Amino acid sequence: MQHPDRGPDRFRGPSDLHLHSDRSDGTQQPAEVMRAAHEHGLRTAALTDHDTTSGWAEAAQAATSLGMTFVPGMEMSAKHEWRSVHVLAYLVDPDDAPLRRMTERVRASRRDRARVMAERIAGDYDLTWDDILAQTSDGATVGRPHIADALVARGHVHDRGEAFRGILSPRGPYYVDLYAPDPVTAVGLIHDAGGVPIVAHPAGRAGVLPRPVLAAMLQAGLAGFELGHRENLEQGVRVLRRIVAEHDLIVTGSSDYHGAGKPNRPGEHTTSDEMVRRIIERGTGSAPVYP
Ligand code: AMP
Ligand code: FE
Ligand code: FE
Ligand code: ZN
Repeated sequence: MQHPDRGPDRFRGPSDLHLHSDRSDGTQQPAEVMRAAHEHGLRTAALTDHDTTSGWAEAAQAATSLGMTFVPGMEMSAKHEWRSVHVLAYLVDPDDAPLRRMTERVRASRRDRARVMAERIAGDYDLTWDDILAQTSDGATVGRPHIADALVARGHVHDRGEAFRGILSPRGPYYVDLYAPDPVTAVGLIHDAGGVPIVAHPAGRAGVLPRPVLAAMLQAGLAGFELGHRENLEQGVRVLRRIVAEHDLIVTGSSDYHGAGKPNRPGEHTTSDEMVRRIIERGTGSAPVYP
């Protein structure tokens, strides 16, 4: 029998399981993110910063003091050939050595890559590395959004969106790729760290991953797909729904809130109580924090 304190029935919906803080590319501190979630009527929320778990303690404290349940998470960077793949990692052990080695390697690559992109951009625009550091909280996972914020601060673009469409575009002259594991490796690392791997925004403009890649990810322990997300396209979602039914997978819906960095609002998509319960039952690397 499950100990009542570890039991999967102690949370309450509505639940939003994908939010970012300034530990990566969100614009608010972890506690502020939980306050925003609370203000939008959520009763369970996860913090899923890119390649880091460093915001968990602050978010858990803030969430529970507001009467919310906190679900620890992370959004792990991965890459299939040229395309970026994001894998949400719920309830992982944050001290798992292989997982930590990988996320540290990705974060180091992100720093090196941001420096090279900054140097390239500085050839054409007034921009320094210090401008980017000024937009990045201490120890945060650096990304193109921080370069975008520096370009906004310098007046070169109006917002992150304009920067991504122009100066920061992968097809532009300033873009530098980052190191990230392939998605099968990422899923395996999360699974081995006791976590629940779910593909974030799996039906975006790049399309659904090829069937053999999805099959290998399922073999490695993939638990499900984030089908409720503003970037998903209907055609891809239909394809994935069939796979979900075939394998009885977990389906989530989330906002991918980034504070002022994106228009996404907390709770614009939510995850059903049944699916949250399945995630909590499956994750063994860390535990939800209840109010
Ligand atoms: P990176 O991982 O450094 O290559 O940057 C990708 C990140 O930028 C993702 O985590 C997104 O959250 C963010 N992003 C992508 N496109 C946009 C956009 N148009 N506006 C704001 N943020 C974006
Ligand atoms: Fe992001
Ligand atoms: Fe993402
Ligand atoms: Zn995200």
